[in-house]
Amino acid sequence: MIEEKRGGFCKQCKENRVIFRKGTNHVLHLILTILTSGIWLLVWIVMSIKFGGWRCTICGSSEIKS
Ligand SMILES: [Zn+2]
Repeated sequence: MIEEKRGGFCKQCKENRVIFRKGTNHVLHLILTILTSGIWLLVWIVMSIKFGGWRCTICGSSEIKS
């Protein structure tokens, strides 16, 4: 999976940290959605919710102030 990185303030560390999030390969999901006649769309939505959002690379916290 693609990983995005940028700077952000971690509320857990109370410091500026490098934060990351797992990027979603939307092209791949779009192809799979077409191939499965829309069934994959549900997986796509679930994955976006579960893996979306920024996290601290040091403590793994999702408490990020952007
Ligand atoms: Zn942290």
